[in-house]
Amino acid sequence: MPLNIKAYLDYAATTPMAPEAVDAMQCYLTSSSNFANAASSQHSYGQNAASAIDNARLEMARGLRCNPKDIIFTSGATESNNLAINGFMLGYQNRGNHIVTSAYEHKSVLDCCRHLESQGIRVTYLRPDSDGLLTMDSILNALTDETALVSLMHVNNETGIMQDIGCIAHALESKGIAFHVDAAQSAGKVPIDLSLMPIDLLSLSAHKFHGPKGIGCLYVRNRKQAGLRPLLYGGGQEYGLRPGTLPTHQIVSMAAAFTLACARQEADAGHCRQLRQMLRTVLGGLDGVHWNGGQNDAIPNIVNVSFDGVGADALLIALRDSIAISSGSACNSGAIEPSNVLRAMGIEGDRLYGAVRISFGRYTTADEIEQAGQSICEAVIRLRKLASE
Ligand code: PMP
Repeated sequence: MPLNIKAYLDYAATTPMAPEAVDAMQCYLTSSSNFANAASSQHSYGQNAASAIDNARLEMARGLRCNPKDIIFTSGATESNNLAINGFMLGYQNRGNHIVTSAYEHKSVLDCCRHLESQGIRVTYLRPDSDGLLTMDSILNALTDETALVSLMHVNNETGIMQDIGCIAHALESKGIAFHVDAAQSAGKVPIDLSLMPIDLLSLSAHKFHGPKGIGCLYVRNRKQAGLRPLLYGGGQEYGLRPGTLPTHQIVSMAAAFTLACARQEADAGHCRQLRQMLRTVLGGLDGVHWNGGQNDAIPNIVNVSFDGVGADALLIALRDSIAISSGSACNSGAIEPSNVLRAMGIEGDRLYGAVRISFGRYTTADEIEQAGQSICEAVIRLRKLASE
């Protein structure tokens, strides 16, 4: 592992845990703390673990402004997306045989939809405009009498572009169509008030907001009436929707991280806006810089940029021992295929193959951005010179 790393700028892939979330976790691990199984209701150890989980559920619900009974703990956004889409269609097929989603969703949504297509469900994949946004018209035009579910992400993991989910939720509610939102990149970073937005299903993941990996949740509006089917069968935990022994330490830690993220939302966003401006200024000193995606609709902690004449692979190799950035979503890196998000936005050629994602957050310092910006500029100049020789 490179210990001389100058800057970790891959927060969209995952974030370091907040010390507060680590502390919260420590209380539920060893024999001197509360390690019991929350389902062991016959003794006080188990009851204490169950009560810690109840409190965590309450904290999550407070942050999302929803009913705590509508929160289902899962292993993260991948599982939440699968449970939302697959579980909903399993339970609701009689209501319609059509899903609307976008061509730039996370693979956990796209592959789930592809699986459902193999089961005879029709899926429409919407394409965004050149700013990476879906227009309300394109969503409404895709709906048919058969549409049971619309599944869209809130903030895109590669460009940071944010969709107005409140507006979409109201339009779909008036048509009686269910709405699932993948909020993995937005939860804890922008306000999500479920008491104001009629969203039916919402996925989130703790490791994107300084919580631990391997834990997340799915919000299911009016869970009792939602008719969701489980994907797993077992001990009946989480109202039978997600059986399996609950990981108290991860759940409590996620809730601590989420509460902190909600409390620090404006401060963290302000910090990221300053860092983004600084990065744009440093990189703006180069010729041939392209910012991918509408900048005003983007969350401040993700920047997607291409440099004329420089391939993303070459740039990442040149920087890999000093700066952690990525050529797209971590789940896709390693694949030679360029970003499906940028492609869906109509970005082509060198600009598509040269796009890199730079993402940062609460613990990124101005110094790190300054140094990283300088290193990127030097690498771009060096690579362009090499190419012209
Ligand atoms: N959706 C989006 C938008 C994401 O960015 C990610 C993480 N890359 C996921 C879903 C999957 O989340 P998890 O890692 O918790 O499975």
